[in-house]
Amino acid sequence: MALRRSIYKSPAQLRAMVEPGLITAAALEAARALVAPGVTTLELDAAASALITARGAKSNFQMVRGYRHTICSSVNEEVVHGIPGDRVLAAGDILSIDAGAEFKGWNGDSAFTIVLPDDERPDVVAERQRLSDVTEGSMWAGIAALATAKHIGEVGTAIQSYIEANSPASGTYGILREYVGHGIGRKMHESPSVFNYRVPDPGPEVRPGLVLAIEPMVVIGDQATFVEDDGWTVSTVDGTAGSHWEHSVAVHDDGIWVLTAPDGGAAGLAPFGVTPRAIA
Ligand code: MG
Ligand code: MG
Repeated sequence: MALRRSIYKSPAQLRAMVEPGLITAAALEAARALVAPGVTTLELDAAASALITARGAKSNFQMVRGYRHTICSSVNEEVVHGIPGDRVLAAGDILSIDAGAEFKGWNGDSAFTIVLPDDERPDVVAERQRLSDVTEGSMWAGIAALATAKHIGEVGTAIQSYIEANSPASGTYGILREYVGHGIGRKMHESPSVFNYRVPDPGPEVRPGLVLAIEPMVVIGDQATFVEDDGWTVSTVDGTAGSHWEHSVAVHDDGIWVLTAPDGGAAGLAPFGVTPRAIA
C-alpha cells in the first residue's frame, strides 16, 4: 500500500507556506507591472523569474515535466497554460498570467487576468473586463465559501452560483470542466481536486490544515476547449475569450488566510463579509 500524505497540514507546515505564497504574489506583481502593448510574454516571464530568483526561491512551473518557463501567459481565446514567447501584447488583449514559487520545499500558486486598454474598441474591452471581473468575483466567492464550508464541494457550488448570477444577459459564461483547482503543499499539485462547479460528491471535510489552490477558468462562450499544437496551450473551440484567477488559501485554527495575497485576501473577501485571519 502506498503511503499517502494527509491533505491536512500541521500549524508549523502552514507557517512554512506563508513565504512561498508571498513570493508568488510578488512574482506576479513583477510581471503585471510590465504589461503594456508592445511587450512580449517572454519579457513578462523574465521579470517573474528574476523576482523568484532574487527571493531565494525556485519556479515550481519549471519543475513540471517538459515545461521550461516561470509563468503561463494565456492571451484572448487561450484560457490557461499558454507558453511565454515572442508574442507581442496588443491593445484590447485579455491576458491571464499564472505562476508559482517553491521556497524551502513549500509551494505557492496564483494567477490573475488583465485587460489592456483599447480606445478604438471600448465594447470589446468592456466585454472582456466583465469576464475577468466575474471570474475574479467567483474565485472570491469560492474562497469565502471555504471559510464556513463543511466540505470542499461547497466551494465549487459557490463559484458556479456566482458565475450564473453575474453572467451577461446575452448568455451564461462557460466554466472549464477538464481543469480544476487542487491541494497544494510540498508539491504544487496535490489532492484533493477543487471543482469550479457543482458536483454530487461533497468531497473531503474542510478543517484546519487544508490548503487549496482555488482557480476558476471561465470563458465568454462555450466551455469546450482543445490543446494547441504546442502541447500546452488550452484554447476555446468557439474562439471566445477566457479568464483565469487563482489563489492558494489556508484553513487554520483561527479562520482562513489567502497565502498568495499580501493582505491575506482582506479586500477580496470584504464584499462577502469574511475577514481573513493571519496564521499565528
Ligand atoms: Mg496556477
Ligand atoms: Mg493551480
